[in-house]
Parts: sequence; structure tokens; C-alpha cells
Amino acid sequence: MSLLGQKFYRLLYDWYDINHRILPWRETNDPYYIWLSEVILQQTRVAQGIDYYDRFVRTYPTVDMLAAADEDEVLRLWQGLGYYSRARNLHRAARMICSAASPFPTTFDELRALPGVGDYTAGAIASFAYDQPYPALDGNVYRVLARLFDCEIPFDTSAGKKHFHRLAEELLDREHPRLFNSAIMEFGALHCLPVSPDCAACPIQQYCKAYASGTVDLLPVRKPRPTLRDRWFSYTIYIYSSQEPKAFGVPTTNRQWGDGSQEPRVYTLLHQRKEKDIWQHLYEFPLVEHATEAEWLSFQPVARHPVAERPIAQRPITHILSHQRLHARFFVVPVDELPVIPDTLTVAWEALDDYALSRLTLKALESVFR
Ligand code: SF4
Repeated sequence: MSLLGQKFYRLLYDWYDINHRILPWRETNDPYYIWLSEVILQQTRVAQGIDYYDRFVRTYPTVDMLAAADEDEVLRLWQGLGYYSRARNLHRAARMICSAASPFPTTFDELRALPGVGDYTAGAIASFAYDQPYPALDGNVYRVLARLFDCEIPFDTSAGKKHFHRLAEELLDREHPRLFNSAIMEFGALHCLPVSPDCAACPIQQYCKAYASGTVDLLPVRKPRPTLRDRWFSYTIYIYSSQEPKAFGVPTTNRQWGDGSQEPRVYTLLHQRKEKDIWQHLYEFPLVEHATEAEWLSFQPVARHPVAERPIAQRPITHILSHQRLHARFFVVPVDELPVIPDTLTVAWEALDDYALSRLTLKALESVFR
């Protein structure tokens, strides 16, 4: 017997039938494609995710092709999505799947054992691909459940997760888990919105305890956020042109100075982050990290062969990660000769796209060179 009865399902499914979006991963039961979409959509908006999903499906139409790719190539394709550990885990998991004797995992426990796959993703793949009765609790579903049951327990604590998981299991339509999970997720994404949900036109309003008690705007409850650690970064973008005149501004491509030849004539330096820190293995411009804001504000890069009299400092960029707030300045320094800096590589400007760049570096390139 379901927690809220058959009529609840009917109302929810009728709403879904009329309102759901056409999304490519909903048009397939292929567990590989569903897994790809779920990993891409973690921390990513659907509009942005579609683009990346299409790119991955086109580049790696099968899990074997993803497994056979180089990690660098996968990271490059992921570039711009952030949270690169997702891409690394995706790639590792593809290799595990292909090295196993059996085909793509078919049970919740097998799926849950893959790197980067938690309860949510395993439940989503098991229900969407195989129609197995597992709940899939994403942020939208937590919100709908918190409101339906007027539940004040913070959903992002371990006690909260257990509580909501139990509720979701009790509410699940065991005869139609694929449809139920799709419908409740979409209902949270499109109707029961975080701010100003349209309760007046809500098809399941009669079941909503938060609506009855006037607590809709207070739910769901989260645990208090950790304070962010501030970090102070100065990047230097060295620009070397092998062609006269050297006193140029900022390149957009080599062709700006070229005569049509494909020979790269503008070079810069990149550094790969190797330390156990943010953006491990990704590339960025040479960096100096400062201990204090005052040090950061007074920093000027020293260039041995500057072409311009002084570096061009761009407006600082603030970049927020889950536990850190990064304050970054980018100095553009045209030089006569690239300096020798340990652990950097000389890279042709046009080849920057071939490197997996950190999201902050991409942001800077967009704002500095657009
Ligand atoms: S009544 Fe409002 S809060 Fe409750 S489920 Fe409907 S839209 Fe969400």
C-alpha cells in the first residue's frame, strides 16, 4: 500500500504527462547514457548539461569508447563543467565496467560500487534504465518531500538523509518506479520551486502538509553552511610573439599577426597542478599564492623581458568553490622572451584548447580576451 494512495500517483502522473520536458536522456533506457546524464547533471543546470551530454554521447557512443579514451581527453571534453573529480570517476568507472566479465551493471549494489556513484545515482540508473523500485533523491525531490510531509529535519545531514530516504521508499510507486521518479523529480524542478512555488495551481496541494500549515517558504531545511576559506591568487599570463612588432596588446588568435600560415607565433606558459589541492591535474597560468589580502593587493609580477612598460592587471575575479572563496588577479605580460619557470610548459596560444584548464582560468580567458 502506498503512503499517499493511488489518487496521489494519478494526479502526479497527469501533471507529468502534460508538463514534462523532452530531454534526450529520458528518451532512452540505455544505462550508459542514463549514467552519463546523471553524472553530468550533478551540480549542473539542465540547459548547460544537454550540451555536454550531446558532446559525450557523440564522442564516446559506447562505454568501451569512453574507457579507451585518455584521461586528459575526457577532462578536456568536461572542461567548463567544474568538479573535475566527476569526470575522473566517470572514466575510472568506465574502465572498471569494461574490464569486468559481465556487461553494464544491472543491480543497485553493483551500480553503487562504481567510483563516483552514490545512492542517488545508483537509484536513478536502476529505476530509469531497469524500472527497478529504488528511490532517486535529488535536491528537487528532497524539497517536495520536505513540503509534502512538513519535515524540518535538515535533509543534508546523515540523520536527515536516512529519514528522507525512508519517506521516499514508502512513497515510491513500486509498480512504476521509472515513471514515479521521473515525475516527482520533474515536479520539483518545474512546479514546487525553491522560491514562490505555484501552490494555488498545485495538483497535489491536498496532500501537502506544509501548505496546510503555512510553512512552505521555510522548507526544506539545510544544515548551517561552513564558512568559506579565502585564498589570494595572482596569475601571470606571459605572451610571447615571435613576430614583429612585439608591442602588441592581447591576442585573440595567432592569425591576428599572421599571413595565413598555420605556424604558431604566439606562445604562453602553463602550469599543471599536481599537488593534492583543488583542480588536481588541471592546467592554469603561472600562479603566486599569497598568505594575506594585503600581500595580494601589492603584488606586481616581475618580468625579465617585458615588452609593455607595465603588466595589464585585469579586474579581480572571485570564484566560489564548496569550501573556498578564491580571489584572483590576472596580469597580462607581453615579453621578448618567455621566462624559465620550473614546472611550466610553453604552449602555443592556439593550442590552449588542447589542455584541460581550470574553470577559473577559462573564466579569466573569457573576461580578458573576449
Ligand atoms: S502545495 Fe506548494 S509546496 Fe506543496 S507540493 Fe504543491 S507546490 Fe509544493
